[in-house]
Order: sequence, then structure tokens, then C-alpha cells
Amino acid sequence: MFAHVHGFHYLGLQTYRINVEVDIVAGLPAFNIVGLPDAAIKESRERVRSAIQNSEFDFPMRKITVNLAPADIKKEGPSFDLPIAISILKATGQIKQPLNDYCFSGELSLTGKVRPIKGTLLLAEKAAKRGTSFFLLPESNAREAALIENIKVIPVKSLLHTVSYLRGSEKITHFPSYEVKQATENFSEDLSEVKGQILAKRALTISAAGAHNMLMMGSPGAGKSMLAKRLPTIMPPLSKKEIIDITKIFSVAGLTNNGHNLIAKRPYRSPHHTISSAGLVGGGQSAKPGEISLSHLGVLFLDELTEFRRDSLECLRQPLEEGKISISRALRQNTYPANFCLIAAINPCRCGFYGDKVKQCLCTPSEIRRYKQKISGPLLERIDLHVNVDRLTKEELISYKSNEKSSEIRQIVIDAYSRQKKRFTKEKINLNSQMKPAHIKKYCQLNKESLEFISQAVDKLGLSGRSYDKILRVSRTIADLQSAEDIKTEHIAEAIQYRQYDRQNTFG
Ligand SMILES: [Zn+2]
Repeated sequence: MFAHVHGFHYLGLQTYRINVEVDIVAGLPAFNIVGLPDAAIKESRERVRSAIQNSEFDFPMRKITVNLAPADIKKEGPSFDLPIAISILKATGQIKQPLNDYCFSGELSLTGKVRPIKGTLLLAEKAAKRGTSFFLLPESNAREAALIENIKVIPVKSLLHTVSYLRGSEKITHFPSYEVKQATENFSEDLSEVKGQILAKRALTISAAGAHNMLMMGSPGAGKSMLAKRLPTIMPPLSKKEIIDITKIFSVAGLTNNGHNLIAKRPYRSPHHTISSAGLVGGGQSAKPGEISLSHLGVLFLDELTEFRRDSLECLRQPLEEGKISISRALRQNTYPANFCLIAAINPCRCGFYGDKVKQCLCTPSEIRRYKQKISGPLLERIDLHVNVDRLTKEELISYKSNEKSSEIRQIVIDAYSRQKKRFTKEKINLNSQMKPAHIKKYCQLNKESLEFISQAVDKLGLSGRSYDKILRVSRTIADLQSAEDIKTEHIAEAIQYRQYDRQNTFG
């Protein structure tokens, strides 16, 4: 007796169609699963057997062979329990209906309950692409899968529930498709809540507009993380495709709370400095996405940058350059997108109060020098904006001056985004921070006056050739924020302000 049913599988963000085949022949009772199963699938035998028996079905006392094809794809996780059980019931004639239009995913409990799985969004997308009509999956995964168009999501509670539906003895209404546009951003914070900090807020606006990485320096309590946390509120809203792309990464990481956490706003992630390299960039046992991928299209905030492990920070080089990360594990490689805006924060010295107006710094000059040398050079290479965040004075703290709202700043940022999009239609980049030297040459042409100004400034302040490119990239964004076609001297003058650590020549 032979039967087969459709299932799907993912490795990283890659998805595959899996044929679950079962052959039942006379012979000594045995139950084997072949097709490169990992430990979880071997355990699946016990779950499938108990679930079938405890759901009032007969488990055949014959030789059962299950093949998960194709065999050369590594299978992981418990999501094949349901399709395996269904294929056995089909082969033994306990389900008579044809199953070609259906696909299945779900873990089974010993009592036959269907338990949630990870990565449903990816599986549903693949199922829809393959033209499968009905996707039967765990009830609590339904909402996430229903984001995908052209597929009917059938939420099932148990093996018995599933079979009753297939036999037509029980009706299950398909989960209503969930429109991404119904998702709201719901920010609980706003940039207007931050008092003072005019320069830092301006730098944040430039960072949002051109996706420029930024370094903030200031004493503890100056409000660095408060500022960083509000960056997503002034970045442009996500498109439908971007929402799905980000939610897929969260789905694979098991962080979508069964579809209730559709990632509808730009992510903000702020891992603690004790995080491992695998936690930061991804990897570990199951090659899961790391913090840099969870902040894809959003913000990665590294507070107390000097405290992070050096090897972890070194791992950021590739993603900062390419917007993605490849993680190798065993015989395969998972690639995850990691196109994030990096905001790093540091104290000005070990004790934290060098240059503070109120509290005195207790560090010696050599301690201050050593502290600043701790910052990874290659990382600094990728940072376009430097800004000081000073603690507020008493007057600033008690002032009730109204501040610009996030929504107002966001509108200007959106305009600057569309200018960049238009400019780069024929290029492989979207934003000013991604400009390579050839783009800079083409899109950041200066008139004679501006050219003179920048070369004088570079000489006078002892800036390196590399900071020259950064100044031009940032100037281009400042000009875009003003809807200016050409980069003018005033734009360059402002951009130079954000290279102050080069000027102090402290981080050589
Ligand atoms: Zn100090």
C-alpha cells in the first residue's frame, strides 16, 4: 500500500517542496523514516504512532517505510509529524479522499493534538507558489500564513480534527486572509519626548534619510539610547514586501508569537554587550538568524560599543559592506539579509564623564587615550556620522519648549528617500550611504567654490581621504533633505561637523 502527501520545508530562508511517501508491506512490524532525517524526525516516529492510536485510528502492525523526498535536503524539526500521520492513514485506507490539493505541516503531541511550528510564513509562501490550494496547519500558526495570498489556510486542532475535515464530516472555515495594510505601526515613543539635543536630533534625521551609520558619544544618562530608540519613528514606513521580508526572518527565529507579531514597523534591536558572535550575526546549532538580521531594514543599536567582544564586532564587517550575512554550518550555508542602520554609543572615557559639565572625570590622560583606542577601526570605517550627546543643563531639563514631532520629521525624510530612489533608478543602490566611489564621482559633483571649501577644510582639520568620501555622502543627504539639486558649501560645512572624532584624531 502506497500513498504520498505534500509538505514543505525551509533551511535558512530557502524553501523546498517535500514529498512525504509511505509504503506499507506485509512483514514484521517496523516503522522507518528515510531521507536524511535528523534526531527530531526519528522522535517523530514515536509521536506519530501514539497520536494515531490515541485518535481512534488503527496503526498498521506491518512494515512501514516513510521517505521524505528529495533525500539530499537536510530535514530538521518536528513539522513533518502531521504529513507523515496523514500519509499512513491514507495508505491504510482510513482516509479515502484524494489529497492532491492539500499540503500539511505541524507537530503532533502524543495525544494527537497539532502543535505550532516555526517558519510558517515561508512554508505558506512556497505552498502558494507551487499552486497548492489548501494548507492545513496548526491553529496558532494560521494568522501568520494567512498573510500570503492565493492559498486557503485551514487551521487544525488535532489529527482527528484534520481527518474529519478531509473526510468531509467536519467543516473548517479557512482563516480570513490578513492584509498587510491592516497592520499599524503603533509607536509608543516619539522624538518630541526628547528635550534639547538639537544637534543629535539633526544627525538622527540625516541618518534616517540616507541610512547613514552613526556614532554617539556622551556621558551615561545623556539620552543616547532614548534617541536611538526613536530613530525608527522618523524612518519611512515599510512597504508590504518589506513587512513580509522582515516577518519571514522573525518567523524562522520563532519570534512572531504565532503570527500575532507581524513586524509592521522597522525593527529596533539593542543587544547587550555580552552577546556572543553567533547571537549577534547568527549561527549556532540551527544556524538561526542573529540580531543583525533581526534588525534588517531597521536599527541595530550597540550601546557601550567598547564593551562588546572584539571578535563579534569584527563579524559586522561583511554585513555592513554587503547588507547580508552568510552563516556556514556543517555542509550548508544559510544567507540572511542584514541591511540595518548601525547606531553605536560610547562613553567619552572609562569613568564616563570626560568633558561633562557637572561631574568630574577621574581618568588620567593615558587612560582616556587607551579607552578610545578600544574602538574597532574597521567598524569606524563604516560610520558616516559622529555626534556628541551632552547631558542636559538644569534649564533645558525644566523647559517646556515644544519639540518637533516624529511624524513631522518623517515627512521630510520620506521626501529625501524618494529623491534618492529617483536618482539611483539605474544603479544597484537605493540610498546615499550605499554610494561607492564611482557613484560619489557621478552624483556628488561640486562647484568651484565648494571644492575649494572642502579641500581647505580637509587640510586644516587633518582629515583623511576616507573621511572626504563620507563628508560627500552626508552632504548629498543634507542637500536631499532640503530638496536641493546641487551640493552647496553650507551642506558640506554641516557634514564636516559630523566628523569630529577624525578632527580630534583620537581614533586613528
Ligand atoms: Zn573619565
